[in-house]
Amino acid sequence: MPIRLTNSLTKTREDFVPLDPANVRMYVCGPTVYDFAHIGNARPAIVFDVLFRLLRHEFGEGHVTYVRNITDVDDKINARAAEIAAQTGVAVEQARSDLTATTERQYIEDVTALGCLPPSVSPRATQHIGEMIGLIEKLVANGHAYAAPSSNGEGAHVLFDVQSDDDYGKLSRRSLDEMMAGARVEVAPYKKGAMDFVLWKPSDAGTPGWDSPWGRGRPGWHIECSAMAGKYLGDTFDIHGGGIDLQFPHHENEIAQSECAHHKPYVKTWLHNGFLQVEGEKMSKSLGNFFTIRELLADWPGEVLRFNMLRTHYRQPIDFTFAGLRESWKMLERWYAVTEPLANPSPDAAFFDALRDDLNTPAAIAALHQASPDALAGGLGFLGFSNVQMKIAAKAEVDTVAIADAIAARNAARKAKDFAESDRIRDEWLAKGIVFKDTPQGTTWEVKK
Ligand code: AMP
Ligand code: ZN
Repeated sequence: MPIRLTNSLTKTREDFVPLDPANVRMYVCGPTVYDFAHIGNARPAIVFDVLFRLLRHEFGEGHVTYVRNITDVDDKINARAAEIAAQTGVAVEQARSDLTATTERQYIEDVTALGCLPPSVSPRATQHIGEMIGLIEKLVANGHAYAAPSSNGEGAHVLFDVQSDDDYGKLSRRSLDEMMAGARVEVAPYKKGAMDFVLWKPSDAGTPGWDSPWGRGRPGWHIECSAMAGKYLGDTFDIHGGGIDLQFPHHENEIAQSECAHHKPYVKTWLHNGFLQVEGEKMSKSLGNFFTIRELLADWPGEVLRFNMLRTHYRQPIDFTFAGLRESWKMLERWYAVTEPLANPSPDAAFFDALRDDLNTPAAIAALHQASPDALAGGLGFLGFSNVQMKIAAKAEVDTVAIADAIAARNAARKAKDFAESDRIRDEWLAKGIVFKDTPQGTTWEVKK
């Protein structure tokens, strides 16, 4: 049975046939790093991690490239860094680079605790400004973008000319007329068309900027993903994922930029996860129902948060409730009582067929209810569960975040060929009863038996 996926571009469920089975390519929009990620942000991380695992199972571990970017240039980052600088007296540039580095590290720790494998590549936007400028230059040269000098003569905005793209709107299925009617925003004077969007904008002295043909400035958000996806996955690739909120305008604009620059289809299959609500309401700080992954991890094992997420199909909205979390914890504990999920993964056919059917994790979990203990153990292992965190939660002694940090430090040491240091880190944790295990998927850990 082939994998079938519901493609947001065609609005149909299709057999998934990779462009190149030797290199199946997937891009997922990653976090903007200015604050702890919330439990809604955990959803695409977990959903596309399961898809990554399934693709590796079907096409082979070395035949899947998964890119998830880090957005480390953004006006929310600048605003937060300015606040920190004002509070602490640290220079704003320093505050900004500390903020993005720290938040990126926290994000990796959080999604590691949720059982997500590291993507193949996690590119940072600030390290790809050259590629973004190159793409914008192409769009200006072929008439799909225009520069609008600013009134004070310092630098220019570069805008994508939406009128120049006959296909604009094909993902969200909106016509330009509908979009304009719906747009309540005041149109900036430098725009030719109301829907034109920013590719590049000028930066003043206090704002991060890079030299460009349009003066010192910084990229718009959408161009980041087009440039980084193109660099690591090519002009056309298999799968692009993200939350449903990104479909318009972010993903629509990615398509416009990449297709007008390269005259080739950008992405074959678009996948969007549904939104997460909390106890039936939109999550927001003002409603007091806003939860970061980090604060939930203080009370709930990462495995419980992960399992709870996978009990709902990725395309459905999810209602995150504490009653649901308790139920998920009980279900996992009952399963762990009858099995050891670290056993050789050998899930049965019903389990895989459910996953192949548009990544139907609730059906896969239902299949586990019917499965033999071995197949149950295999299925749990395949979905990224190991029982380790549950044992840890029971003991409540070991700091999973500190372990994730140690694994990252050990990987860095190994990369630098500093094996004395990598062995020291391993031995230090072994002495505390934590065994690091190097597997083709990366380093995992377990409690010494
Ligand atoms: P952001 O940092 O806001 O760009 O979000 C990062 C990722 O999390 C994107 O794929 C969003 O679509 C996704 N996301 C944000 N909020 C939620 C939510 N409440 N439910 C599900 N996904 C979300
Ligand atoms: Zn993106």
